[in-house]
Amino acid sequence: MSEFNLIHEYFTRNAENADLGVGDDAALFRVSPHHQLAVSVDMSVAGTHFYADAAPYDIGWKSMAVNISDMAAMGATPKWATLAIALPDINREWLAEFSRGLFSCADAFKVHLIGGDTTRGALNISIQIMGEVPTGKALLRSGAKPEDDIWVSGHLGSAALGLAQLQGKIELPAEVRQICLAALNQPKPRVNLGLALQTFAHSCIDVSDGLLADLGHILQASNLGASIDLSHIPCQTHLQSRLDNPLIRQCILAGGDDYELVFTAPASQRAAIKSLSEQLNLPLTTIGHTTKNLGLSVHYQGQILEISQKGFDHFG
Ligand code: ADP
Ligand code: MG
Repeated sequence: MSEFNLIHEYFTRNAENADLGVGDDAALFRVSPHHQLAVSVDMSVAGTHFYADAAPYDIGWKSMAVNISDMAAMGATPKWATLAIALPDINREWLAEFSRGLFSCADAFKVHLIGGDTTRGALNISIQIMGEVPTGKALLRSGAKPEDDIWVSGHLGSAALGLAQLQGKIELPAEVRQICLAALNQPKPRVNLGLALQTFAHSCIDVSDGLLADLGHILQASNLGASIDLSHIPCQTHLQSRLDNPLIRQCILAGGDDYELVFTAPASQRAAIKSLSEQLNLPLTTIGHTTKNLGLSVHYQGQILEISQKGFDHFG
C-alpha cells in the first residue's frame, strides 16, 4: 500500500466546513467575521502518552479529544484539524480502528480533518486543532481576579486511577474500574461548557497534567494564590470515602488526563453557573477561592496538607 493510498483510505473525508480539504499542498478555510483563530497542537507518543498495544480506536479518539479539549479551555469552537502521523509499518487493521476512533471524536464535535503528513517512524501522532472564538472573548489563564470562586467540572482523579489500575498499583471494584478506564481512554472534552463560560468565567484551563499543576498555571498567569479544600473536589463517590488513601488522594490532586475544565468566576455568578450545570447536565463544583497572597494551600479536615507532587512534568 502506498503512502497516498493510505492517506486516501484512512484519512480523507469530506471537510464540509473548509473550502479545500485533504489532497492539495495546503488546505483552505475561512474564519467567521469578528472571530479570532485559535490554534493548538498536541503530540501523542507511544510509551509516553499511551501504551503502544492500547486499543487503536482509543488512541485515535484520545489524540483528537485532547486537542479539542484545548479549544474548550479557551472558550473556542473547534472546527479544523490536521494530523501528522509516524507509523512503524502499515497495519490495516490498526489503521482502520485508529481512524474510526479519530473520526468518531471529530464527528462528535463537528471537527473536520483538512490535512496532515504521513511518514514512517516510531508511532507518534501529532494533531493540530484550529477553532474560532468571538474577538476578545477567549478564556485566558491570566484573567483570574482575587476572591474568585474556583470551579471544577465533572469528576477528577478517574483517569489517573484507571492508569494506576492498568499498572497494578490498585485493584478497583468492577464498576469503578469501568468508569476510570473510560475516563482514561475516551475523555470527553467540555466544549459546550467552555463556550458558555465566555460569559461567566474570568479564567479557564483544562486538567491535562493534574489539578494542582494546572490550577497553578492560572495562579501564576494571574499573579494570585488560592485556597482549596480536598473534601470539596468532585470525584466518584467510591473515592470520596477513601481520601485518606495516599494513591487516591494523589490521583485527585495531581493525576492528569481528566480533561475537565477548571475555571474561576466572581461569586456574583454562582446562581448562573449552577443553572448552567443543570442545563448541561454536568456537575460544576466550587473547590475554593483565589487569594491576593501567593501560594496554593490545600485544606483537609482543618489542616493544611503538605503536597509533594503537583502533577505530571515530562522533564520533572
Ligand atoms: P506534500 O508533499 O505537498 O506535503 P503530502 O503528500 O504530504 O503532500 O500530502 C498529500 C495530501 O494529503 C495533503 O493535502 C496533506 O495535507 C494530506 N495528508 C497527508 N497525510 C495526512 C494525514 N495523516 N491525515 C490527513 N491528511 C493527510
Ligand atoms: Mg507533506
